[in-house]
Amino acid sequence: MKMKTITKIGEMRSAVKALKSQGKTIGFVPTMGYLHEGHLSLVRESIKKADSTVVSVFINPAQFGPTEDFEDYPRDMKRDSEILEKEGVDYLFVPEVKEMYPEGYKTYVEVCGFQDRLCGRSRPGHFRGVSTVVLKLFNIVNPDFSFFGQKDAQQAIILEKMVQDLDLEVKIEILPIIREEDGLALSSRNTYLNTEERRAALVLSESLGEAQKMIEKGEKDVESIISRMKEIIKGEPLAKIDYIEIVDMDNLNPLTSIGKKVLVALAVFIGKVRLIDNVIVHTKE
Ligand code: AMP
Repeated sequence: MKMKTITKIGEMRSAVKALKSQGKTIGFVPTMGYLHEGHLSLVRESIKKADSTVVSVFINPAQFGPTEDFEDYPRDMKRDSEILEKEGVDYLFVPEVKEMYPEGYKTYVEVCGFQDRLCGRSRPGHFRGVSTVVLKLFNIVNPDFSFFGQKDAQQAIILEKMVQDLDLEVKIEILPIIREEDGLALSSRNTYLNTEERRAALVLSESLGEAQKMIEKGEKDVESIISRMKEIIKGEPLAKIDYIEIVDMDNLNPLTSIGKKVLVALAVFIGKVRLIDNVIVHTKE
């Protein structure tokens, strides 16, 4: 089947209803476009797992702060559409902002507590925007499965909580971070980096690699791990730490001592570009 592009909510709903009436399962991958291999890993898993795959490309204004990069966020719809068609996606959903948030729009979803930590502290309102748009998209697409990247660890945890708390039927799957060969996590925002900044951006994955090594060797003291990470990042003049935290995977609470399964997460400005990355580390005891 040739990929169909849909811009209207009503049309998306009808397409989904038709698929469901044929007994087909639906996999859904929400994105903001400017696709890379990270996105495509989710798309491929959806195609493998579900009978039909819907991908959305929607740059959601509700998740950008007033001084953030909504206007400048990279866009290339033609390329995205060609890539998705080649992958074998069934439906591409690209609503306009006024379709998703018509004049007078008032309703927002908050996953209280979880949304104010880590990235939420430096991006107030960000996760409220994310949860709101994802719930709206779930209501429109009615997927059986939806696929998200571990790259946005806090987003994944928040959305899993939203699905649990609101009794949604969709099953969320979180897939591993796809990286460049040198370790940099793929991100649409990497395109903002100049050559010098691209090199400097390696401090994110390097410091996470060091944290992982320390934990695997038995280091339990969170403060020592974070201070070693800070040392690595501060060695790079173009880098400025937004946050580094080691938290409990279940509730995002900061830890003082390493437990069985921890999330090491950080956000670092490289020049003006804010990048995030993380690693989950398991220990034996
Ligand atoms: P975005 O377009 O940035 O909103 O991302 C759409 C989806 O792709 C989200 O679930 C992200 O977590 C996921 N994603 C982005 N970058 C990566 C990556 N490097 N590896 C795996 N998943 C990713």
